[in-house]
Amino acid sequence: MIEKYDEFDFRLICDHCGDECDELFNTFQEAVEYKTDRDNGWVSVKNKNGEWQELCPDCNKGVVIAEMRGEKLQRKPPKPENMEGF
Ligand SMILES: [Zn+2]
Repeated sequence: MIEKYDEFDFRLICDHCGDECDELFNTFQEAVEYKTDRDNGWVSVKNKNGEWQELCPDCNKGVVIAEMRGEKLQRKPPKPENMEGF
C-alpha cells in the first residue's frame, strides 16, 4: 500500500510482509511511479477481493502472488510411498 507518512512524504509498504520501502516520496504519484518501475522489484497484485496490493522485492514471488490472488498453489507431488526408508 502507499501510505501518507507525514506532512510531506508518502511511503510504500509491502502488503504481505509489512516491510517499508527505503525511499520516501514527495507525492502519491511518485510512489506509484516507483512501484510500477520493474527495476525496483515491486509488483502490484489484485487480490481475491479485487483490491490492489503491493508486494516488495522479497515477496515478489509466484507463490506469494498466487496466495494473494487466492489461487491454489501448485504443490510438488508427495513423495511416493516406496521412498520411505531411504
Ligand atoms: Zn514483502
